[in-house]
Amino acid sequence: MANLQSFAAWIGDYAGVVAEQADYLTDLDRAIGDADHGSNMQRGMARAARLADEEEFTAIDAYLKKVGMSLVSNVGGASGPLYGTFFLRMGGALAGVEEAGAEEVGAALRAGVEGILARGKAEVGDKTMYDAWSPALDAFDAAVGAGGDLAGALAAAAEAAAKGRDGTEDLVARKGRASYLGERSRGHIDPGATSSTMLLESAARTLA
Ligand code: ADP
Ligand code: MG
Ligand code: MG
Repeated sequence: MANLQSFAAWIGDYAGVVAEQADYLTDLDRAIGDADHGSNMQRGMARAARLADEEEFTAIDAYLKKVGMSLVSNVGGASGPLYGTFFLRMGGALAGVEEAGAEEVGAALRAGVEGILARGKAEVGDKTMYDAWSPALDAFDAAVGAGGDLAGALAAAAEAAAKGRDGTEDLVARKGRASYLGERSRGHIDPGATSSTMLLESAARTLA
């Protein structure tokens, strides 16, 4: 079961990961974008991780909404609004929930990803973060359907996201900056699919 402390631990853990991996994420974005994905995520998540120290939160939904708003207002480009909307919608789905189990976390992740789609209009195969999220949500639900608990479902989701991330290498981008490169975007892993996989790996370490 994940409570408010677990969600704050998730945000803190992920802020550490993207800080450590900032150069790698930026290198991926240098190949098919504008070389700022690592610095965008590092700056945005560092700011979001400080929220829990600055304010006494009492509910998961209010906390995640604040994280989302912080990302929307502090990170420019595509990823700020996309990750911001993800956390805003995730928070909305967890209204009134104090202890989230596999069902609640699965529904909240799905709501978050629906926010990404509402903003970005990506489809599977467009070489975006959705190519990590789509198989991850399916794997999460399959694990829960097979009787798995939150830990098992998050582990399965992170593993599926990593496969989806790796699969973006062979794709031609149809959304975001990378789409300007057309065929030349092929042969590179998508930065956002990489940071999204890291977010699920972080969730598997902290939420269960
Ligand atoms: P920007 O492209 O504005 O510099 P970032 O470099 O921070 O923003 O983020 C780029 C990532 O955003 C891409 O790797 C991709 O995964 C994701 N992205 C871009 N456009 C979309 C979209 N329309 N839908 C989903 N994800 C997208
Ligand atoms: Mg960029
Ligand atoms: Mg940019």
